Amino acid sequence: MDYGMGNPFGFKEYREEAEFAIAAVRVAAKLCSEIQGEMITQALEKSDRSPVTVADFASQAVVARLLMDTYPQDPLIAEEASQTLRATEGAKTLEAVTAYVARIHEEAEPEDVCLWIDHGDGKTADRFWTLDPIDGTKGFLRGDQYVTALALLDAGQVAVGALGCPNLNHQIEPEIGGEGVVVVAIRGQGCWALSMEGESLGKLSVSTISDPGQARVLRSFESGHTDSGKLEQIKEHLGTVHPPVLMDSQAKYALMAAGKGDLLFRLLSPAQPGYVEKIWDQAAGSIIVEEAGGKVTDLRGSPLDFILGRGLSENIGVLASNGRLHDDALETVRSIGADRRMEGL
Ligand code: AMP
Ligand code: MG
Repeated sequence: MDYGMGNPFGFKEYREEAEFAIAAVRVAAKLCSEIQGEMITQALEKSDRSPVTVADFASQAVVARLLMDTYPQDPLIAEEASQTLRATEGAKTLEAVTAYVARIHEEAEPEDVCLWIDHGDGKTADRFWTLDPIDGTKGFLRGDQYVTALALLDAGQVAVGALGCPNLNHQIEPEIGGEGVVVVAIRGQGCWALSMEGESLGKLSVSTISDPGQARVLRSFESGHTDSGKLEQIKEHLGTVHPPVLMDSQAKYALMAAGKGDLLFRLLSPAQPGYVEKIWDQAAGSIIVEEAGGKVTDLRGSPLDFILGRGLSENIGVLASNGRLHDDALETVRSIGADRRMEGL
């Protein structure tokens, strides 16, 4: 398959897979951006989630169909399933999703769209892909950050990861309505940023900050996705002087890979102390940070185990860092007890 890129990055192993992942997240992220622009209007009620629902399904259908064409043997584990679209109440949504999918795959009919979405119902295997069609759905609705995240798992490791980030600018800073970037990483080869059109914006490297007091902490915008109280204690313990950066989605990992954030904590929310992280929320982001020179583990320092199913069931939370700050951060997490689930769970 030729994606018209001509290997300007010198990709070696997994070159075709990386070019496929770039192409897939670019198409999906552009479509999501169109949907955000067209469906999120002033008249929309704050509680109306229909734009994100349409974008989520359309993005998954488009990427799954591309994967079925390119790597028909590879399973896909993705967040959404067509069940609600197939129900009578889902008919209008399915019609809207199909119209958007047809912008990419002209021949799309509602039944095809459902089949493509359900291609994401795969199982872990020696080689498989995982997709979050829109990571950061709350950010999408707020008009903030969100990404399309796609990763290839091979022999138990993330081999390729790509993030389509419509609301990051070419400097990898949040700029709503900016040009958008794609960030891609290949195991053992590095991490790059590209424009949405596919031109290289250069290789990415994490920061060299080693003083915990200078660390720029990245965290979820949604307080329900973390533990704000414990994060405050962590910041105090580390003596950080900079206010934390609140941001939705794996765009946080893109920032860290570009050297614009140094520590990222995914702590257990007191509201959902049994929460298990999903593989599609971490696979692409983690290889992007690692290949930019950083480190990613769970809150106890264990590697993330991506092959147990849809969840990282053997891990607790996530810690990502520029590498140099990792041990200090792990020690701090341990000392305030943020590395454990609450008793009785
Ligand atoms: P973020 O934008 O960093 O807050 O992460 C968004 C992802 O967090 C979404 O894909 C959600 O599936 C996931 N999520 C949902 N509930 C929780 C929770 N209680 N703790 C951590 N992540 C969650
Ligand atoms: Mg997600």
